[in-house]
Amino acid sequence: MKRIIIAIDGYSSCGKSTLAKALAKALHYAYLDSGAMYRAVTLFFLENNIDYNDPEKVTWALQHIEIHFERVDGQNCTFLNGVNIEQAIREMRVSQHVSPVATISSVRRAMVRQQQAMGNRRGIVADGRDIGTVVFPDAELKIFLTADPDVRTSRRHLELATKGIKADRNDIQHNLLERDQIDSNRSDSPLRQAADAVVIDNTLLSESQQLAQALAMAKEKM
Ligand code: C5P
Repeated sequence: MKRIIIAIDGYSSCGKSTLAKALAKALHYAYLDSGAMYRAVTLFFLENNIDYNDPEKVTWALQHIEIHFERVDGQNCTFLNGVNIEQAIREMRVSQHVSPVATISSVRRAMVRQQQAMGNRRGIVADGRDIGTVVFPDAELKIFLTADPDVRTSRRHLELATKGIKADRNDIQHNLLERDQIDSNRSDSPLRQAADAVVIDNTLLSESQQLAQALAMAKEKM
């Protein structure tokens, strides 16, 4: 069977990472959480009091940021300069700054370069906002996920609660919609459905139904 690239894009909290992780597990593929990389950069800016509106400071910061992924206790974890930051990057303070940070072209160039290197041997499932359009435009399977905003808010609320992170439901919904707005309207690599992407609306789908649909599509391409 051919090793392919599966690109999953869509709005915030549509279940992209749930689907991507399940697909990667089923196919024994690598999983790339591109959003975690933008979150890691944002955390670095926040923790080092770096004004990300200052291009020189951004350039300096990018030279001092090393991001990689490791499995810890069976979970995919994001590391920033050798430290496991998987929990910290999910906090609201990071969610509130990540979309403005992700509009910065120099940040995007650095992340996309690393993402493309991770996919050079194919056999990868990546999720994000520009995976099918910019990072892997030649991906064999492109999925664009959508879901009702109330359902998305509830899912994110539950996800944060499971991780022990407290957040107000209204704040979560506001943040999701604001990020969608910034991500869709930025000039560099805006969130778009690739012309050759398949849309899956998972509002009424269970995780296993969604996985079954996507796996069938993947197997056809392999
Ligand atoms: O996927 P997640 O919600 O963790 O992504 C956090 C933010 O990172 C998004 O709201 C978006 O601003 C940015 N992002 C991006 N391009 C990607 C993945 C994420 O701009 N490929």
